[in-house]
Amino acid sequence: MRRRVAALALCICSIGRLASAQPAQDLDSRVVTLVGQVSEQRLIVLLKKLETFGTRNTLSSIDSPTSGIGAARQWIFDEMKGYSPKLQVSFDTYRIAAQGRITRDVEARNIMAILPGRSPRRIYISGHYDTIAINGGQSGSNAGNRGRDGIVVSQPADPNAPNDSPAAGVNDDGSGTALTIELARVFSQSGLDFDATLVFMCHVAEEQGLMGAKLHAQKARDQGLRIDAVLNNDIVGNARGGNGIIDGASIRVYSEGPEDSPSRELARFVQRWGMRYVPSHTVRPLSRPDRFSRGGDHSAYNQYGFAAVGFRESREDYSRQHDPRDTFDGVSPTYLAQNARVNAAAAAALALAPPAPGVLNERGQANINRAPSGYDAHLMWKASPGASAYRIFWREAWGPDWQHDMLVGNVTEATLPNTLIDDLVFGVAAVDAAGHESLVSPYISPARDTDDVKTAK
Ligand SMILES: [Zn+2]
Repeated sequence: MRRRVAALALCICSIGRLASAQPAQDLDSRVVTLVGQVSEQRLIVLLKKLETFGTRNTLSSIDSPTSGIGAARQWIFDEMKGYSPKLQVSFDTYRIAAQGRITRDVEARNIMAILPGRSPRRIYISGHYDTIAINGGQSGSNAGNRGRDGIVVSQPADPNAPNDSPAAGVNDDGSGTALTIELARVFSQSGLDFDATLVFMCHVAEEQGLMGAKLHAQKARDQGLRIDAVLNNDIVGNARGGNGIIDGASIRVYSEGPEDSPSRELARFVQRWGMRYVPSHTVRPLSRPDRFSRGGDHSAYNQYGFAAVGFRESREDYSRQHDPRDTFDGVSPTYLAQNARVNAAAAAALALAPPAPGVLNERGQANINRAPSGYDAHLMWKASPGASAYRIFWREAWGPDWQHDMLVGNVTEATLPNTLIDDLVFGVAAVDAAGHESLVSPYISPARDTDDVKTAK
């Protein structure tokens, strides 16, 4: 194997020079420091505060200073606003008309904290701060609503009345909300100069059909905003399954396909870099959009064309979800802190890296061929601003993750001799002088349109 790699490197040498400065080490000590700033104690304070609002239902009261969604959204706004003058905190406000589970016209506010980077391309860390409690909770839903166990949640008969029935939602999704708020603090106080713009987003109206996320993603698409990645966290604070099985050392990451979709590449990135910076926690990518019959805000971003993944706790306790029993005693701040560290590592590594290189030619086809011999792998890509080298990845065309990689110089093409592009999947990432690595751009062929065959009479 060593001899083969040497031969490959020689070949690339003939096209361009090898990376002049190899990164001194795999990890950036500044990212290590940033990840180390995630505080379990701060997460406890945030979770307990979120619990005090009683409910954060999108249709709950907005006039109380201490309970309901009006008080909650103002507190989240003020909390993030206080972290750093660099954070641009705002309400992302919409008027949603009565529809589906929205029983009346309602003002809905996402809370957004932007940490501007050198470039406008965005990376999101998110959760949803709204909550819900329904009769029977998620256990009832799982059992076809036959599993009711005596918890009756009263809903107002008048659709215009506020729904203030208890729904503390400490895990769903106080956990993702606390994680998002805590990382807004850590990133904005890090002193780091990121290439990408970071957005810390607390979505609303997730429980009524991902409405806050959909409205924001739709606006982002309409405004032509570039969103490179959405890390969405929804139910990430408990590792004790309702069946008694406990796994506090892993986190699930769901992504929509196909296998080299932007969201799948993002999931691979989260695993690769999350586990390098937080080796004590296992990232488990899963090749499906979400759990069976369950949804989350990352899917709203997918629907509007953006790469997004959903973080989910390792084991769930359905008896506490969408249920008044979703309280602080049902979460593990230690576990939530580990999940926050994985998010922090992946987002920081990605935000410090150059943008991913383009690998499509002018006809929109993957820029790869068999030149020069007809039996080689010849990869071409567009230079990425800020890159000083590129890393080529490849794997058998039957496998979920990259199997091999090789750092090449500051070049825009490379050839691997006697390498069948038919049997391997290739990708390339941009790498800066400090070793920060972009998402991988895969060489995939778009599906071909077909024409019906004309038949003769
Ligand atoms: Zn949720």
